[in-house]
Amino acid sequence: MTVLVLGGTSEARSLAALLVAARIPVVSSLAGAVRQPRLPQGELRVGGFGGVDGLASYLTQQLISAVVDATHPFAARISDNAVIACSRTCTPLLRLGRPGWSDRPDAHTWHWADDHDQAAAVAAHLGRRVLLTTGRQHLDAFVGPLAEHSVVARVVDEPDLQLPAFWRLLRDRGPYDVTRERTLLQDNNIDVLVTKDSGGSYTESKLEAAAQLGVAVVVVRRPTRPDSAAAHEVSTPEEAVTWLLAGSVDAGPSGPRT
Ligand code: NAP
Repeated sequence: MTVLVLGGTSEARSLAALLVAARIPVVSSLAGAVRQPRLPQGELRVGGFGGVDGLASYLTQQLISAVVDATHPFAARISDNAVIACSRTCTPLLRLGRPGWSDRPDAHTWHWADDHDQAAAVAAHLGRRVLLTTGRQHLDAFVGPLAEHSVVARVVDEPDLQLPAFWRLLRDRGPYDVTRERTLLQDNNIDVLVTKDSGGSYTESKLEAAAQLGVAVVVVRRPTRPDSAAAHEVSTPEEAVTWLLAGSVDAGPSGPRT
């Protein structure tokens, strides 16, 4: 069997490494959105498939026996497409999704926002000096509401848009530790941290640092996932391997076909 891993996350890279070690043929797929992505082990393809039709064709033409959607929790479109394309081609689909941060003990103190626009409006009222960690894609939602604020915008790649005068771009990528995050918050006198509920440990330290320093936290809720009944869901790469291996010996309705 050949497994297609829809990637762009550390979990996807861990899964690819486990599959390579287990000698299970794997192709990892990246959107191509990041200029110098961290690369998974094993075979790689880069770029969009061309919507549901393109993904369905790819699954058929490449004889893909199972798909693991290990994309970021905020990458909703590719997950939607995977559900439909896998259903159409009868390809088993597993969702490898990392738990969010809402179970953290400090989560009840956060200001939850339904989307980036709402997060920008809330942050604008909460403080004057903002650490913005929601990524390059949605910076435009913050530019208007925070145009007069002092903002440190942390991103992996340079954004295409013009940033306001009081904004500073910080190009960096995780993982980060708590000490470094505390220093960043303190050095810039940050009074509001804006993040999205990405979950995972890679970028979690900022929440701990903010809690220690009493910095207000604004968190964008996760987008609604496609019908969760459409795909099995696990939360670790190891569980994904177990699911795949179980399916390869017993190709029942919930396991991958061989
Ligand atoms: P998205 O809105 O769900 O997807 C937009 C389009 O990008 C999809 O329709 C698809 O194009 C293509 N695409 C997305 N992921 C792909 C993949 N793994 N392989 C091939 N094509 C893919 O996704 P996004 O939010 O732009 O995120 C893009 C990628 O970055 C994802 O793979 C995700 O795991 C990673 N990432 C996203 C975030 C985030 O905050 N959104 C953070 C970290 C990493 P076609 O329709 O043409 O197939």
